[in-house]
Amino acid sequence: MAKVQSGTDVKSQFKTLSEADIQASTDDASFRKGYDYYLNHAIVEPTLSEPVLRAFCHSSSGSPYHVEATLLPAGDKSAHKLASAGCSCPRGGFCKHLVALLLIWLHQPERFVVRTGLMGRLSEKSREELLNLLEQLVQRQPDIEPLVELLIELPLATTTQEKKRPGRGREPTLDPSTIRSRVDSAFYHAGEGWGAAGRVAAELDPLCDIGKSFAEAGEWANAQVVYATVAEETVIQYEDLHDEGQVSWILSKCAAGLVACLNAQPTLPRSERLEAEEREELLTTLFDLWKFGHNYGGIGVDIPAAIAGNATAPERKRVEAWLREEMRPGQDSSFYRAKARSHWQRLPGNWDTGQTSMEARDATTINLARNA
Ligand SMILES: [Zn+2]
Repeated sequence: MAKVQSGTDVKSQFKTLSEADIQASTDDASFRKGYDYYLNHAIVEPTLSEPVLRAFCHSSSGSPYHVEATLLPAGDKSAHKLASAGCSCPRGGFCKHLVALLLIWLHQPERFVVRTGLMGRLSEKSREELLNLLEQLVQRQPDIEPLVELLIELPLATTTQEKKRPGRGREPTLDPSTIRSRVDSAFYHAGEGWGAAGRVAAELDPLCDIGKSFAEAGEWANAQVVYATVAEETVIQYEDLHDEGQVSWILSKCAAGLVACLNAQPTLPRSERLEAEEREELLTTLFDLWKFGHNYGGIGVDIPAAIAGNATAPERKRVEAWLREEMRPGQDSSFYRAKARSHWQRLPGNWDTGQTSMEARDATTINLARNA
């Protein structure tokens, strides 16, 4: 086996990073605290699995935070300093833990143990050996079994050509219950109170990535299953969560994925397009996400425009019926309804939102009052 390398041995392979770059990526307080963390050795077990820096950081809540940053190759000419970065702490984004991790990389690269060659070593194994290894992995970590079941359905071939599997655009092969149980377990294990939303989002984000892999391979039916199941299950559990924006961000990702699914349909050959039933489910989920966005704010995706741009005449009738049902006077204030209607009324083609002439007059009054 090759000698164990440290970060120092491989540092020159990656794009350089300065203290000023790190400072410019975050706010002053996070940079200061991150510097203290770095000086006080709060970051443990730093490893480099090329090109990803990883480490843990002790947290006051008990379970350690997992922080990582993906380095860019030395020849990279872009303005970016890193390919990606993230942390499982509630703040997320460019937090103090990330600052500390990168300061170690900058000043003490020898602390990083380089884990190279894993893929190379695996590629030398026979099919039987690999299956055996997987079996042992699942036996020792039984909780990864559902994840393996999900990943098995992914288009795993390396070339785009091989990834395209005829008919898989319209044929869902994923079992939504596998995804549902992962979403439920994310909420269950996240607990309650401050920080729970960040923990939920950290668990749900990889599921969105799986949806993205299906979409990239043109397996829209499976992409829809992933995004819709994550979205529906999350909306159900959302009420009891103290969200600080992380979970609504996940819902935005789901909405964007489902909109991409809808927008892709007219570009596909007929044999790859979703069936009417799946399309209806797609519209239903999108409509629910629009309602969610209107109630809670924070879905940065123009769902009404996507629906209006794609709906067939019968589909539009159905969506209008949902809208009229939603906009029935009684449950919500007329201000709420006027605001919700405005999302649809601005679209071309006169969407019927069931507005009475009296409500139209009220809406105008509200708008006038707001603009005054
Ligand atoms: Zn953090």
